[in-house]
Amino acid sequence: MFHGILVTQDDAGYRATLQPLDDALLGEEADGDVTVQVAWSTLNYKDALALTGQAPIVRRFPLVPGIDFAGTVLRSRHPAWQVGDAVILNGWGVGENHHGGLATQARVPGDWLVALPAGMTARQAMAIGTAGYTAMLCLLALERHGLRPGDGEVLVTGASGGVGSVAIALLAGLGYTVVASTGRPAEAPYLQSLGAASILDRHTLSAPGKPLGKERWAAVIDSVGSHTLANACATTRANGAVTACGLAGGMDLPASVAPFILRGVTLYGINSVTVPLALRQQAWQRLAHDLDPARLASMVHEVPLADAIATGAALLGGTVRGRVVVDVQA
Ligand code: NDP
Repeated sequence: MFHGILVTQDDAGYRATLQPLDDALLGEEADGDVTVQVAWSTLNYKDALALTGQAPIVRRFPLVPGIDFAGTVLRSRHPAWQVGDAVILNGWGVGENHHGGLATQARVPGDWLVALPAGMTARQAMAIGTAGYTAMLCLLALERHGLRPGDGEVLVTGASGGVGSVAIALLAGLGYTVVASTGRPAEAPYLQSLGAASILDRHTLSAPGKPLGKERWAAVIDSVGSHTLANACATTRANGAVTACGLAGGMDLPASVAPFILRGVTLYGINSVTVPLALRQQAWQRLAHDLDPARLASMVHEVPLADAIATGAALLGGTVRGRVVVDVQA
């Protein structure tokens, strides 16, 4: 037996409950499978939706939610992994249609795992989690575009959230001038402590805007979507780039083509789920190298597994700052 959160849907409705779980839940071990003793997991926006049932994240029932975890290999039927190896899992539909990380054990194909980078603890990996890893994917896309620290201001939206907080710390650590857009003015000192040079009230971006505005941003990391993303594109400088990774403000994109055809702005879509292994490894290595551990520690709130369900609801309520790490064994 092990224990974890199970999401069920039946005549009694949609429920997430912490309970003892039978080993059989994880299914027969197949060739290539790895069974992991999960040490840490985390709460991303998607996990909060899965725990509350506010969006159809969970695709089969019953299911252990949790789109990422870090832990140690217990048993391996995959040539790349040995008992005791420290591993990270994120993406691949885990916590959506494959049992996830909000339990003390998980079983996944070994091809989905990434080695914990040297110098990074399992707790730090989950303090970063899918949100922080996605922030790094955004940064890598901007670097491939040619962005360099001297190029000008970089806008980060959804700044107090998980993606936003890690994006600010990463960019500032590399010498970029970061403007943090937030709806929580009280979090200005926190955002400045992560390295934001200035703070923008998110309401200046969230209302319908013009097809083109005054050019300001060398680049943008947007986790909000909707009018915010449209306005960010409209105010990005000629030949600049915008990465779109989230929909905290809405799934729509009420924009015009003007920034793209008149200013050569590039819009990059970022999907963390199906990233090829080489880019995954690069992203985790860069996180180990570039993210200041003290800044990471300052954005983390730790909860035991027993509090994960309630914390998921708070995260959707917009009252959680930064990243939530879940002590699965507590
Ligand atoms: P969080 O809840 O931690 O942060 C979201 C932030 O967005 C909030 O803290 C808030 O920042 C801002 N926000 C919330 N509601 C609104 C609103 N109505 N209008 C404008 N801003 C709002 O979530 P994450 O950082 O974990 O994820 C952010 C987004 O990125 C989510 O949509 C998530 O699904 C997506 N995502 C996508 C991934 C991918 O693979 N593409 C991977 C990971 C995340 P503030 O209070 O500072 O304004």
